[in-house]
Amino acid sequence: MLDAIVVGSGPNGLAAAVTLARAGLSVRLYERSSRLGGGAQTAELTEPGFHHDVCSAVHPMAYASEFFQRFGLADRLEFITPQISYAHPLSPTHAALAWRDLERTAEGLGRDAGAWRALLRPLLNSLDAISDAVSHPLLRVPRHPVSLARFAARALEQGSPLWNTAWHTDDAPALLSGVIAHSIRSMPNIAPTAAGLVLAVNAHSGGWPFPVGGSQAITDSLVTDAVSHGVEFVTEHQVSSLDALPPARAVIMDTGVAGLSEVAGDRMPRAYARALERFRPGDAAAKVDFALDGPIPWTNPDLARTATLHLCGTRADIARAENQVARGNHADNPYVLLSQPSVFDPTRAPAGKHVVWAYTHVPKGSTIDQTEAVTRQIERFAPGFRELIIASSSRSASELHDHNPNYVGGDIAAGAITLRQLVARPVLSADPWRTPIPGVYLCSAATPPGPGVHGLGGWRAAQSALRNEFGIRREVDLAPRAR
Ligand SMILES: Cc1cc2nc3c(=O)[nH]c(=O)nc-3n(C[C@H](O)[C@H](O)[C@H](O)COP(=O)(O)OP(=O)(O)OC[C@H]3O[C@@H](n4cnc5c(N)ncnc54)[C@H](O)[C@@H]3O)c2cc1C
Repeated sequence: MLDAIVVGSGPNGLAAAVTLARAGLSVRLYERSSRLGGGAQTAELTEPGFHHDVCSAVHPMAYASEFFQRFGLADRLEFITPQISYAHPLSPTHAALAWRDLERTAEGLGRDAGAWRALLRPLLNSLDAISDAVSHPLLRVPRHPVSLARFAARALEQGSPLWNTAWHTDDAPALLSGVIAHSIRSMPNIAPTAAGLVLAVNAHSGGWPFPVGGSQAITDSLVTDAVSHGVEFVTEHQVSSLDALPPARAVIMDTGVAGLSEVAGDRMPRAYARALERFRPGDAAAKVDFALDGPIPWTNPDLARTATLHLCGTRADIARAENQVARGNHADNPYVLLSQPSVFDPTRAPAGKHVVWAYTHVPKGSTIDQTEAVTRQIERFAPGFRELIIASSSRSASELHDHNPNYVGGDIAAGAITLRQLVARPVLSADPWRTPIPGVYLCSAATPPGPGVHGLGGWRAAQSALRNEFGIRREVDLAPRAR
């Protein structure tokens, strides 16, 4: 009999497999796709030699993650960290820039320099408290209550209708709204603001790094470690029922909430099934990748100095776009998240050529190809972009779902980022990874701390299984040297 089975090979599934195997257990992982990695893969989506990130591209969460720090990810692969974490053009010639250096960022924000410092400096000084909160379930006595209260106050202020009180110019609130919008919610709103503030603080601490070679490098390092500790991988194997699995003392599910319900079937207790029914998917993303015959011809040269950009306009423009999506419409001036890794990483495209990764927000289940909408938004700030396109590849929200059932309707967060679902993810519990089905755990982005390539859900679910099913309470050594 196996000790443990993991279903799904996203970063959380792989983190769980690595943790369990390193505790000395026999582990088998089933993945429905022919490729391992879930949301952390890189592939030649357009033309040979152009290496596109299939889902995730930018990795502040991986860099800051306690799991990946213990795993020594930064020692296992090379990260590139641009000095400008992200840029936000407000016109073809003017952009707000989030430098890694908070002070340099503030200096670029004119009359709002003081307000930016006042908002983010105390949070930067409370980084340990914020990381601790991100890394644990929210339902527990906090270790740093004062720092967390300060963080909550900032999220309340910037997530409420009073969000503009502190600002005098367009730049600083746009810079902030660009990160808040990652959560794909109506604005202003408290939960996405809390998530956005974590990203903004990361921008000024470890920065917004990405691995040489793309997100695949993260998956490869996890798979290599898992294989060397005995994990057995079975690909192209969709698990449709718990009963179809071979006997194992623990089963760790890297599926969404709907996937868990489907696979558990009648074995799921009624009350838990009802609680899961209350867990709501969020709105969606639609993705477009481009192979280019040169770098993006930004009018403003500063925009070529970062890997990540938020394209839309002012805070009011972003709120309008996100609120249109929340009402079930496609935005007329959509918010676009763009990454241009090949400006820094020559391994991503043939010499002189480039890859561009972009997605925009759309209502859940949208089947509309967003290539033209994204191209038009880039053209506003980089006239001539269109002429450089060699090839493109598009995935509508519904195609994202077909590619990975965890992204229900194209919801790349695996569950809407609401206040309720920050705390009850997917249910209110001090151990939200443990389900009431004996031996069955959920580890995906539908558990704390939610979406992102950080492996924390997998690590915590594995720790819970080790404790509850195997009586193992010691910390499992994840460092590269451990064998
Ligand atoms: C377009 C896009 C852009 C993103 N950008 C970023 C970014 O820049 N930075 C970032 O940090 N995050 C980003 N994310 C989010 C990030 O990719 C996810 O939050 C993360 O991958 C979630 O990891 P996971 O392990 O929970 O699940 P996933 O990565 O979704 O993996 C789940 C795996 O389980 C498999 N599976 C599901 N059901 C079954 C079954 N029944 N049987 C067998 N296998 C099954 C799936 O095929 C998949 O491989 C992005 C996501 C998308 C889609």
